[in-house]
Amino acid sequence: MARYTKSKCRLCRRENTKLFLKGDRCYSDKCAFNKKNYPPGERGKGRFKKPSEFGIRLREKQKARRIYGILEKQFKNYFKKASKKSGVTGENLLQLLETRLDNLVYRMGFAPSRNAARQLVNHGHIKVDGKKVDICSYQVKKEQVLSVKETSRGIPSIQESLAVKRGSHGINWIEINPENFSGKLLKIPTLDEIPRQINERLIVEFYSK
Ligand code: SF4
Repeated sequence: MARYTKSKCRLCRRENTKLFLKGDRCYSDKCAFNKKNYPPGERGKGRFKKPSEFGIRLREKQKARRIYGILEKQFKNYFKKASKKSGVTGENLLQLLETRLDNLVYRMGFAPSRNAARQLVNHGHIKVDGKKVDICSYQVKKEQVLSVKETSRGIPSIQESLAVKRGSHGINWIEINPENFSGKLLKIPTLDEIPRQINERLIVEFYSK
């Protein structure tokens, strides 16, 4: 599957906000956004202009895509799925994104970033209800248990990440058992329960045009 391979820090600079795509580096002095908080490219510093209404909605959608590491077509499919479900489309969209397997691996603290979580899933280190699942977009259901494969528990990055658990601060809809290298999705979170830096309403408006 095609994926973004250029510098992740450029994405933060493009969106003019920290997207926390690189784990611990994002919380350190090495964060590129702290040093260059203007758009990348030759004319970067001159590119901050008052955005149009369309531009504001577009950037919000791009920001969400980048945070969750999802390509355009797949993101649009998530939106279509969210709009067909009963309830509020913006909330449905975030619920779909939050219950992706790679996101929950990050939220449960097995990886320091969603990107690192994707690698763990792709390389077959993660089980769902005791069975290996290597599909990042796998939609985890309520009560399902995620765990790190027994033979993968010695991987230093997993152990270090579990000691810090960056993505899970203040989350009450997942249960984490670091001793067992496992975690459970207790419930599908409501909008208010999802830690977020995006305005989902703007994304709905973007696609509704
Ligand atoms: Fe963004 Fe993290 Fe890079 Fe900072 S270190 S610019 S937060 S990806």
